[in-house]
Amino acid sequence: AAKPRVALVTGTSSGIGEAVVRHFCEQGHQVLAVDFNPAGEEVAERAGAAFHQADLTNGDACRAAVQDALQRFGHLDILVNNAGIQHVSPIETFPEEKWRHIIDLMLTAPFLLTQAAWPSMRENGWGRIVNIASVHAQVASPGKAAYVSAKHGMIGLTKTAALEGGDQGITANALCPAYVKTPLVDNQIADQARMHGMDEQEVIEQVMLKNAAVKRLIDPDEVAALVGYLASDAAGAVTGASWNIDLGWTAQ
Ligand code: NAD
Repeated sequence: AAKPRVALVTGTSSGIGEAVVRHFCEQGHQVLAVDFNPAGEEVAERAGAAFHQADLTNGDACRAAVQDALQRFGHLDILVNNAGIQHVSPIETFPEEKWRHIIDLMLTAPFLLTQAAWPSMRENGWGRIVNIASVHAQVASPGKAAYVSAKHGMIGLTKTAALEGGDQGITANALCPAYVKTPLVDNQIADQARMHGMDEQEVIEQVMLKNAAVKRLIDPDEVAALVGYLASDAAGAVTGASWNIDLGWTAQ
């Protein structure tokens, strides 16, 4: 069995974050689930995790979330930056406030959480930072300027953390999934259907799986299993890497 660790996971009310919390709890880790949606409390409880409500677009809220984990569990070993949203609009009409919101939540919050978690990981000589990026950290799609920019930025943050953590026992890696079956994607299917004037099944087949070799959506548990590996002792030699779990999208 894996050594029990303390993990903080963001964006845990549904989707990938929920699957990661469940996976960590099953491994015997102590988990603080962080989300701004109060529904996350019940989701966390069901998995056996503690819950901290926070809007991570706020810097003080990011620091308070890490403090809460340290107070409850004494230290912090694993940070999974997962909370994210999408907004689909051409650049020409992309609202500035949506741009700032996405950059705050998906690039600045992972930076601030990493910064706040760092001293505990350094003191223990062991840390795992797993950033849930996206295939959109590798390639772009029209209509997703803020999301694509935040995710590309997250790769830079991951590489920098890997270099700084190398002699402190801290690793940092990014995961780059293509479309995972979660509420975020269900919303996008509706948005894309409007943008392209298609019905929802056509969007899945012709837009979402257009570049996929494996023609299906990814299950959140498949992503959680890779997070579990990257957060384990076995992955100590793996750092600064971007792990595509993308149905073969970027193979072409
Ligand atoms: P989801 O919508 O199911 O989960 C996102 C979570 O983030 C929700 O629990 C939501 O409440 C939380 N959240 C949103 N705004 C927040 C805020 N201001 N403060 C705190 N929490 C907030 O989505 P998901 O598909 O599971 O996405 C999780 C991550 O995976 C995101 O970063 C997303 O970009 C990434 N990702 C998803 C896919 C996919 O196809 N679903 C593909 C690649 C990457």
